[in-house]
Amino acid sequence: MWKIKLATLESILLAARNTYPNEFMSLLGGSRQAKNIDELVVVPAVFGETFTLVQTHLIPFDQRIVGSVHSHPSGRASPSAEDLNAFSAFGDIHLIVGEPFALDSVRAYTVAGKAVRLQVV
Ligand SMILES: [Zn+2]
Repeated sequence: MWKIKLATLESILLAARNTYPNEFMSLLGGSRQAKNIDELVVVPAVFGETFTLVQTHLIPFDQRIVGSVHSHPSGRASPSAEDLNAFSAFGDIHLIVGEPFALDSVRAYTVAGKAVRLQVV
């Protein structure tokens, strides 16, 4: 089971609220081996209401990147077809936070889009 530090989740929720009604997107740093997420790796991106354009050529190769997180301002925290395509580019674990961006608004998915449990630590 993947774990996320409470402080990291709180930063994500705050950023999602601040970016609303646009979508927020960031990469996640942590340990693949320990299945642990403990930092946000903010990427150069253009945020829209229903999309995020990530400038992938500006992302440095980073061993600590374990996945991605983005917000769904519409509230429905399930991955779209575009999300499933994007997941494969950035690691193993992918979070979606739905409006209202509360602690229980977060959902975790594998690269294939399968929902998995996420433990807040
Ligand atoms: Zn999405």
